[in-house]
Amino acid sequence: PSFRVAGSRPDVWTMVNKATAECKVPPVSLSQGFFDYSPPKFVLNAAKKCIDEVSCNQYSHTRGRISLRNALSKAYSPLFNRKLNSDTEIVVTAGANEGFYSVFAAFLNPGDEVILMEPFFDQYVSNIQMNGGVPVYVPLIPPKEGAERPVSAKEWRLDINRLRAAITDKTKMIVINTPHNPLGKIFSEEELNEIADIVLEHNLLVVSDEVYDRLSYTPFVRLATLRPELFRHVVTVGSGGKTFGCTGWRVGWIIGDESIIKYSATAHTRICFCVNSPLQEATAIAFEEADKVGYWEEYISTYKQRFSILAEAFDQLGIPYTIPDGSYYVMANFSKVKLPEDYPFPEHILSRPRDFRLCFWMLKEIGVATIPPTEFYTDEDAPLAEDYLRFSFCKTYETLEEAVKRLQKLK
Ligand code: GLN
Repeated sequence: PSFRVAGSRPDVWTMVNKATAECKVPPVSLSQGFFDYSPPKFVLNAAKKCIDEVSCNQYSHTRGRISLRNALSKAYSPLFNRKLNSDTEIVVTAGANEGFYSVFAAFLNPGDEVILMEPFFDQYVSNIQMNGGVPVYVPLIPPKEGAERPVSAKEWRLDINRLRAAITDKTKMIVINTPHNPLGKIFSEEELNEIADIVLEHNLLVVSDEVYDRLSYTPFVRLATLRPELFRHVVTVGSGGKTFGCTGWRVGWIIGDESIIKYSATAHTRICFCVNSPLQEATAIAFEEADKVGYWEEYISTYKQRFSILAEAFDQLGIPYTIPDGSYYVMANFSKVKLPEDYPFPEHILSRPRDFRLCFWMLKEIGVATIPPTEFYTDEDAPLAEDYLRFSFCKTYETLEEAVKRLQKLK
């Protein structure tokens, strides 16, 4: 194999999904952030309709079907406080993932450094490295009280001096993720302003991963809108899968100034040429319909409800957790949960931090699948999160209730 993939260990998604499938009693899956129920009717109907349309079964424009780019411009212009140009400022990508990849491919030269905050979504690292870039890590500092009581995701703090200290003459980009996976943190205006100062001072590019933007329970500020001059420095990444509950559709987008988008579009064309047509068209229709059926408000309220099912169970069990400002993840602190000393953990679990043992034991003995968050850290900083497990709550009420029932075994 090439240097790009050689030596990679299996990713955590494949590892947990495989271990889940191998359990004799099927665990309740609160691990990967996928929905275990169908998207709303208006979304499904849109997809069914589009497959019958002649043009939808052929290539789309490489930047995406104009209907979707127009729908995105209509939906996002008010949120960006400017008229977004469908031709020059928006590209539809194969999921948010290919959006990041295209931006990294478009802007990284060998040795260029990209700052990531820990915990980071794991795909960033490989996407940067495959494009010759070098990730540089700055941890978000967990609140000490996180082991004692529920804390707000806001309390996971960015040490701006550490961010400043990480800048070198090779630094090209910073990746921010807000609402954040796995913390559910929404970066405050103050934090974003501090980041903005650094970005403008060093003329950096920011990839702002805002795929959970529609799932914000507290006020959400977009870095790109904070100051007029930032629009030329920030490319915002969005996700149809997260927005409409259809992660398998692989429809995402990037929004930014023409000067960023034009090179990202060049990379995107060479990577996948264009995204599948029918589901782009369906996503365009879904945006139109969503406003009519009051989808956005309902979406948020059902997720608050889903979160509260888990939160109540954690409260009862005395397991502290981080209250998300957004997203459908919650980090629970398992420092008080004792693992049996003689438990037969396999070698690939024993060689990893404590959260992998917690995850494996929860899977086998409690019957609930979670994600060990130190996968989103360097080895050096992994101790910061080794007592945590990430739970996804983009699941049916029944699934969540069943998980709560099984969690009672922790008493
Ligand atoms: N974003 C989702 C999660 O964090 C899915 C990740 C993936 O499958 N790569 O669970």
